[in-house]
Amino acid sequence: MQTDVSTFAGRKMDMSFRDYDYLQSHGYSDDLQLTQLDLDLAFAGANAKKIGNYIVEEHFQGNVLHRKVGQADKQPLKDRLATYFGSRYTRFRYKFAGSAQAAYDQECRDYHHFDGRSDNENHPDTLDGTKLTCPHRIG
Ligand SMILES: [Zn+2]
Repeated sequence: MQTDVSTFAGRKMDMSFRDYDYLQSHGYSDDLQLTQLDLDLAFAGANAKKIGNYIVEEHFQGNVLHRKVGQADKQPLKDRLATYFGSRYTRFRYKFAGSAQAAYDQECRDYHHFDGRSDNENHPDTLDGTKLTCPHRIG
């Protein structure tokens, strides 16, 4: 019997064409395996020190069961992603950011895009030392 993947453990899973468009238009990578090998390949050379944004995902039968959006601006993106080793998340997407403010902006955008469909419980904190407010709040 085929398992219905539209819900799993009461949770609605989705990765729609709209999501693919969103991720692509914002410059996210395809999803990669959250392993040391894939981190080393994605963040070779100078990229090992860059900051940016990420989405970590748990997949089930080709669909996204859980995801979490985030950013790294105080530590390299590569190091931040490595903290998810051994967690439920086994895949990741990433993009580099030119500044901490750009990373914050993208994180807010991602939070709202996946609102209700991510494991993020709270809106991203404002950037340390700033009073930036989110420009992407909807409604
Ligand atoms: Zn926001």
